[in-house]
Order: sequence, then C-alpha cells, then structure tokens
Amino acid sequence: MTPEEFRTYGYATIDWIAHFLEHTRDFPVLPDVKPGDLTDALPVSAPEEPEPFDRILEDFEQQIVPRNTHWNHPGFLGYFANSSPGEAILAELLAAALNPNGMLWQASPAATELEEVTLSWLRQWIGLNDPWFGQILDTASTSTFHAIVAARVRKGFASMDSRLVLYASVHAHSSVEKAALAAGLPRENVRLIEVDDQFRMQPGLLAEALSRDTAAGLIPFCVVPTIGTTSVASVDPLAEILPVARQHHLWVHVDCAYGGSTAIDSRYRHFFAGLGEADSLVINPHKWLFVPMDLSVLYCRDAAWMRNAFSLVPEYLRTAGDPRARNFHEYGLPLGRRFRSLKLWFVMRAFGRRKLADLIHQQIEDAKWFAAQVEAHPEFELCAPVHFSLVVFRRRGTDEQNQALLDAINASGQALLSPNMLQGRKVLRLAVGNIQTRREDLERVWAFLRDFTF
Ligand code: PLP
Repeated sequence: MTPEEFRTYGYATIDWIAHFLEHTRDFPVLPDVKPGDLTDALPVSAPEEPEPFDRILEDFEQQIVPRNTHWNHPGFLGYFANSSPGEAILAELLAAALNPNGMLWQASPAATELEEVTLSWLRQWIGLNDPWFGQILDTASTSTFHAIVAARVRKGFASMDSRLVLYASVHAHSSVEKAALAAGLPRENVRLIEVDDQFRMQPGLLAEALSRDTAAGLIPFCVVPTIGTTSVASVDPLAEILPVARQHHLWVHVDCAYGGSTAIDSRYRHFFAGLGEADSLVINPHKWLFVPMDLSVLYCRDAAWMRNAFSLVPEYLRTAGDPRARNFHEYGLPLGRRFRSLKLWFVMRAFGRRKLADLIHQQIEDAKWFAAQVEAHPEFELCAPVHFSLVVFRRRGTDEQNQALLDAINASGQALLSPNMLQGRKVLRLAVGNIQTRREDLERVWAFLRDFTF
C-alpha cells in the first residue's frame, strides 16, 4: 500500500468506524446466523494474487460485520460487557503503526516504560500504596495462571508436586481451576469452599479444609478469593481470609478481574479491605475500565517472585542489566509483547479518574434501578444482591420459561443477556458495562421482559 493509498483507505476506515460508533444501536446485538455461515460465504483458499483494498473493505462490511456479535452495542448486557471508546481505538491504530515488541527494554523502551508508568498510575488509582510490580497480559485466565505458578515456586516447588493444594470458592471463575490445571495441579487438588447466603467464601470452612489437608500430609499453597464473582458478583471476605491464609503460609491471589475497576472510586473501596496485604491480584481494564480487548493486569507484591518463576534468559536475549531497564519477558510466559499500555494510557488520560469513576458509578446505579424493577414485580425475583453492575434474576416459573425469555430478548436484537444456573435454577444475568449503555436501554429491556408472554 502506498502512503497515498493508506491515506485514502485510512480516512475511509475512520469514517466507517465513526459511523459505526454513532449508529451501533441500528445493528442487532446478536446476529441471526447459523454456525458455518461465514465459513461457507468465504473462499476455501486464500487468494494467490493481491486483491484490491476496497473489495476487502466491502467484504468486511458485508460478510464480517453482519455476523459479529456486537460487544460494542449499548444493548450488550451479557457475560461482563466491555467497550472500545474512540480514544482507545485510535490508540490501537497507533500501536499497530509503531508495532514494537516489548519483550526487552531495548526492544522498545517506550512500550516497556509506558507499561510501568500506566500500571503505577492504575495501582495508585485502586489504592495500593506500595510499589507493587505490574505487568500486562492478555486475559485474567493468563494472569491467574502466572500467579499460581509464582505461588508454587515461592512455596519451594520448581515443578508440580501432587501434595500441593489450592483453594477458591465454589463461585470462583472457572479460569482459576483451569489455571491450576495448566500449572500442573490435578483437579482434585483444587478445593472449592462453600459460600454463605451472600455467596461469599466462608473463612471458617477454608480454615477447616486447610487443617484437614495439612493433617493429611498435603501442602496448601494458594488461595484465590474473588471480589466480584462472575456468577453473582459476590465479594469474598478478604480481610477475614487473609489471617487464615497467613497462618498456613498461603499465597493470596485476588481475582478482581471484573470488580477491581470500582476500586478507583472511594465509594466502593470498602469491598477491597485487605487488598494491600495480598500477594497478587488481577484486574481487567478490558472488562470495566473502558479499555478494549485485550488488557489484563497482574500485580504482584514482589517482582522477584514473578522473576524467580519465569526468568530464563538465552544468550540471544542477554542485555547489559541496567536496573532501570525492565525486561518484561523475564516475569512471565510470553516473550513477544504487544504495545497494550498505549490504549490504557490514552483512556486514563482522555477520561481521568474522576470521569471513569463516575461512569462506573452511574452504571452501578442503573443496574440497581433494574434490580429494583425486578424486585417490585410479582412475577420476577432477584436472585443475588447487587453490589456492582450485575443483576441476577429470573421470572417466577420453570427453567424452560426462563430460557425462552432469554432466547426471546436475545433474538429481538435489542439486547444480549447471558444465562447461568444458580442454586439449581436457571437465572438470567444482566451486566451493565458498555460505555454507551444508558438507563433508556435498560428501560427497554425491562419493558420487553416484563411484557413478554409465553
Ligand atoms: N475472573 C472473573 C471474576 C471473571 O468474571 C472472568 C471473566 O468473565 C475471568 C476471571 C476470566 O477473564 P478472562 O476472559 O480475561 O480470562
């Protein structure tokens, strides 16, 4: 592509994005497609010769966009919603233009140091005063995997030992168990501790499990409390778990992939009591800090713990060893690292903490409004307390009826909600989190659900 062509198509692409962001509501959130539709619409083999760029753009518009589930839609209320505001989209474009690989400081001083700077800013925003070490990874699943491996190594096990045991609550995200599996732990060495009536891990049951396992000759090494669980956004009592964990010399890794963004606002800081005494935590700006996929942050109280677990430096990656020149590849599994911090920097600067906090607060208020409608209606029930922006509810009736309700709202194109099973019953999850979602969007969803007849 010549610079002139780049300008022409670049402007056209930006125009397309601007129009898309302005009119996202015109698209159905969930496309009406069947598995294989796109595959069948595209050629079986890649082109042998170059194709004109405008034809590729046209196919993007006609083949790809209509088959996309629009996470950037204000009606996207499933899973945990995410966003890509214009500021971050432009940052992604610039990151692609520079295209550094931040594996070593000298491979990109800018990418390396911007990661350190933005993560120091974010650390202060969430109220961690000590200089914790932060690194950007792709997802919370990967972040938690890194924490578990570091915990195992700190315990003195360079490789897996069948006596090691990890603890989390029955409401922990499946990524915790999966990360443990990937770190070599058999599934039966992951203890899922029961919760109380607010879906919080019970520290007393944790203590009992630890004593039982220690007496049986096993080696407890890590506990993963969650602040903002995926199923119900419950908050494990970290301040009560910490002393139990300390008594048994456990690594405490806090999963606040979703809930962590609220810590930038003093109104929600009480949920995080004790956080500064944990050993590591994961927070996903790509979930709820309005930074697009993907950007997960793993903080660890001591950089040396990550380095002990992951440093392996071949001759071709050896550098002078200046203490200010961080080589990120020594602290994690990936060698190649893209310039993710750029979009975080753009978002943090373009919004500022106060505006981000206010947006999050408004979304929580909107979720609480929705929950209040559910609670006030005789045919609906609220199934969990609303701490953050997740509402878990169901229509009084059978699981099949709730599935039918979910299918109907999702097929309407107006909104996308996601299902779950809670205490043996089908529930609907509505999670506010897209930056464009407004109270009116929730009003429309509520009217649809309320008036739906089977
Ligand atoms: N932890 C929690 C609490 C989550 O809600 C999720 C995903 O929703 C994850 C971890 C996994 O996140 P990721 O998709 O970044 O791996």
